[in-house]
Amino acid sequence: MEKINEHVHCLIIGSGPAGYTAAIYAARANLNPVLYQGIQPGGQLTITTEVENYPGYPDGVQGPEMMVEFEKQAKRMGTDIRYGMATQVDFSSHLLKVEVDEEKWIEADAVILCTGASAQWLGLESEQRLNGYGVSACAVCDGFFFKGKEVCIIGGGDTAAEEALYLSKLCSTVHMFVRRDELRASKIMQQRVFSAPNIKMYWNTEVDEVLGEEKVTSVRIKNNKTAEKQVIPVSAYFVAIGHKPNSDIFKGWIDMDETGYVKTITGSTKTNIEGVFAAGDLQDKIYRQAVTAAGSGCMAALDAERFLHLLEHQRAIAAAANAPINHP
Ligand code: NAP
Repeated sequence: MEKINEHVHCLIIGSGPAGYTAAIYAARANLNPVLYQGIQPGGQLTITTEVENYPGYPDGVQGPEMMVEFEKQAKRMGTDIRYGMATQVDFSSHLLKVEVDEEKWIEADAVILCTGASAQWLGLESEQRLNGYGVSACAVCDGFFFKGKEVCIIGGGDTAAEEALYLSKLCSTVHMFVRRDELRASKIMQQRVFSAPNIKMYWNTEVDEVLGEEKVTSVRIKNNKTAEKQVIPVSAYFVAIGHKPNSDIFKGWIDMDETGYVKTITGSTKTNIEGVFAAGDLQDKIYRQAVTAAGSGCMAALDAERFLHLLEHQRAIAAAANAPINHP
């Protein structure tokens, strides 16, 4: 049995657009939210550069700067924002328990999960070094900056196909590197990719290194059948080999699909556990945009508010009748 150190009314885990938006709404609804930021406060947007597609910023905004503004707004509304990482959960009873930093257990009446997803990378040192300087994991976010330029994309799934097509409308040439001799993408997406005149396919091809001092200038590739290497000049390197939802600590408690995305009840942010809601990329493998994450964060706070209102009502009735609570 965990030793509980603190009780909170509404606990939010995660600090991307979903988490902070949930916090803004929850705080304004007097739910006294406590938000744990996780290991990367601000989430995925803190590793992008300029964001031009978030409404309300007509001149664009730097991703990290935007997340500082989200945080400020959540704080100004009264959210208790803390640096810390949820390390374990126990949702076996209506008092929802979350362990923070492997040392402290918090009990909450409602929990909003906004831990996001992380792009998969090849793991090259040069990918890390040039991240935000031509290296990106989001063509929709960053493709525009490379209008008219030659770019490359890595991956052969539906995401890579979709992003290659998106880039083909902006860029002069899209070099698509696929590690096998076929695409994993659906047939319809394959047909579209093959009929785009400026997408150049490279089969059995892996990336050896992203080249450039201060920004991407080219990429060195290797044919994994012939071991032949070549350098292709490009201005940007987009990786699209999949995302991994940050859902490991919820396994065994929260229903997920086979790839780890949290399942929510259609039309809501409710999970299979009463009082636990999910928002943002953790439960969205299709749209994955800052604005859609923020929208679902708002929905989660509204769902939590309704749930907590009902819970308080049940508690009041139970207290008056001196009877056990009938949980909503
Ligand atoms: P995915 O289907 O898992 O495809 C990942 C791709 O990246 C595969 O081609 C894979 O190659 C390649 N890859 C993985 N690791 C690699 C590595 N280390 N080096 C080089 N290549 C690597 O991922 P996804 O494309 O992100 O799609 C995820 C899910 O979302 C899928 O179910 C997809 O259908 C769905 N989705 C649907 C739509 C849509 O319907 N519009 C759009 C996007 C995504 P191998 O094939 O060799 O493994």
